[in-house]
Amino acid sequence: MQRYFISSENINGSFIHVDSYNHKHMQRVMRYRNGQEVICILPDQHVYIYEIIDIEKGILQQKQEIIENNELDVQVTLIYGLPKNDKFEWVLQKATELGVARIIPFLSQRSIIKTDKQTFEKKRERYLRILKEASEQSCRQIVPELTPLVKIDELTQYLSDVNVVAYEEESKNGEHSVFAETLKQDYHTITIIVGPEGGFDENEIEKMKSYGIRPCSLGKRILRSETAPLYMLSVIGFSRELMASWDL
Ligand code: SAH
Repeated sequence: MQRYFISSENINGSFIHVDSYNHKHMQRVMRYRNGQEVICILPDQHVYIYEIIDIEKGILQQKQEIIENNELDVQVTLIYGLPKNDKFEWVLQKATELGVARIIPFLSQRSIIKTDKQTFEKKRERYLRILKEASEQSCRQIVPELTPLVKIDELTQYLSDVNVVAYEEESKNGEHSVFAETLKQDYHTITIIVGPEGGFDENEIEKMKSYGIRPCSLGKRILRSETAPLYMLSVIGFSRELMASWDL
C-alpha cells in the first residue's frame, strides 16, 4: 500500500487534509478513488491506515493503527564530502533506503563542486523531496534530517558515541580492523565520514583525528565516493539486523 508522510498542519482529529504535493500524487499518479486506502506516517512516527473519503478535496479518515518499526536500532549520521550534484542526490536516496538518520553535507578541500551555504540551501526543497520519497518507498518511520552545508571546523557538532572516517590511505596501508572493531563496541549513535571524488587531504584527516575520529579502511579496493557511504551503511545494517544468525 502506498505510504505518505503527513505534517502536523494537515491533521485535524481523525482526518487528514493532504498537502498539494501528496494530493497530486494520489490523484494523478495513483489515480485513487474514494474508498481506497493508504498508509500515513504521522509526525509522532505512528503509522495508520487511512481511507480516502474525498479524493477531489484530498480528505482522508483514520481507520486503524499499524504497529511497525523499521528503523535501525542505532542512529547513523553520515558526514559526506560533497561530490558532483547528481551523485549527491543519488546518495541521499540510497542512504535513506539503508537507514541513515542524518546527513551532513561537508565542503571538503577536494570537493570538485563549487558551492557555498547559500547556494546549497536553494536546492534544499528538492533534496527534501528525494529524502521523503525514499523514506516512503523504503517503509521508514522517519525522514532523515539534512543539515546545512558544513566546513571542517563545524564537524564536532555532529559526533556520536563512535566516529570513523573512511580514508583510502588506510586501505593502501593494509589496515583492516578499525571499522569492524568500532561496530563491535556498545553504541547507540555512530558517525561515519566519507570523502569526495578526490579523497581527503592529509591535514583534514589530522584534524578529524584530533576530534577523536578514527580513520578506517573499507577493504582492499578503492570505492567511488558514492559507493563508500552505501558500503558503510550496508555493513552497519547487516551487523545490527542480520548478523545475529551467524552465532559467532
Ligand atoms: N581519489 C582517491 C579515492 C577517493 S574515493 C584515490 O584515488 O585514492 C572517495 C572516498 O571514498 C574516500 O575519501 C574515502 O572516504 C572513501 N573510500 C573509498 N574507498 C575506500 C577504501 N578502500 N578505504 C577507505 N575509504 C575509502
